[in-house]
Amino acid sequence: MRPRIGYNAAPMNKHYDLHSHSLASDGTLSPSALVQLAASAGVEVLALTDHDETGGIAEAREAADKVGISLVAGVEISVSWQKQTIHVVGLNIDPESSPLQAGLARIREYRNWRAEEMGRRLAKHGIHGGWEAASQLAKGRIISRTHFAHFLVAQGHAKTVRDVFKSFLKPNKPGYVPGDWASLEETLAWIHGAGGQAVIAHPARYTMTATRRRKLIGEFAALGGEGLEVVSGSHSRGDNFSMAQLARHFGLKASAGSDFHGPENPWVMLGKLEPLPDGCIPIWADW
Ligand code: AMP
Ligand code: MN
Ligand code: MN
Ligand code: MN
Repeated sequence: MRPRIGYNAAPMNKHYDLHSHSLASDGTLSPSALVQLAASAGVEVLALTDHDETGGIAEAREAADKVGISLVAGVEISVSWQKQTIHVVGLNIDPESSPLQAGLARIREYRNWRAEEMGRRLAKHGIHGGWEAASQLAKGRIISRTHFAHFLVAQGHAKTVRDVFKSFLKPNKPGYVPGDWASLEETLAWIHGAGGQAVIAHPARYTMTATRRRKLIGEFAALGGEGLEVVSGSHSRGDNFSMAQLARHFGLKASAGSDFHGPENPWVMLGKLEPLPDGCIPIWADW
């Protein structure tokens, strides 16, 4: 431990990781195991942001109190914007908010239908039992493409989860079903209605032109969105810098999150993040 005595001119920057997943969605650790790992990785403020689901927050909060770190209640909402799926993270939400919960319930209903449809499409392609296997892996919680991916890898249809996404689960591939998620407007209304701040997740990762990305971010900012996930575990360092420029241009605050799903993915570790580039206003500036 470095001594902290004497560092009293400015409070030390805390270590934030504001994007992570647990077993409540497509992560592989329980909420409490995730929090324990975060604490041992030196994270001081962790947001649990499961896909379209807040069911892990109570357990995570209890674990965070025990190990002495701060838990930010979050969610990663699936959004359809101009026929493309994007993800919006809500931070500091009240998980009890009824409009938010009604919205998430509607998305999960679509998810369940989509999972059945993915199963049917894979069956047409000669791969049977996908829906059953994915449902079993999801253990009654949300069924995501990740669950299908694990089944397809286990069946030998591809070597890695990444490969399986490329060959089966992306647009124009046999198991892909176009998203029909929430609109950007309603997503922002749910997050703000729950007292939270809205952040576009991993903005550099969407397959779109630079012009289209600016249009998305501009629309999001005009609708009252607060932040851009400038630093993400799925960004390159160059991505972080170009997203920092966009955040500044559109007057958005900057968030940072690993998007950790579990220790199986060694290239994305909990709490292992580049610092925010200079000139960013952190989303936590007024927390
Ligand atoms: P879904 O929300 O069910 O469509 O699933 C999206 C999830 O799949 C993301 O949150 C990631 O966890 C995972 N995913 C998406 N693309 C890839 C990829 N190329 N390789 C590995 N995992 C991916
Ligand atoms: Mn995921
Ligand atoms: Mn995402
Ligand atoms: Mn995520």
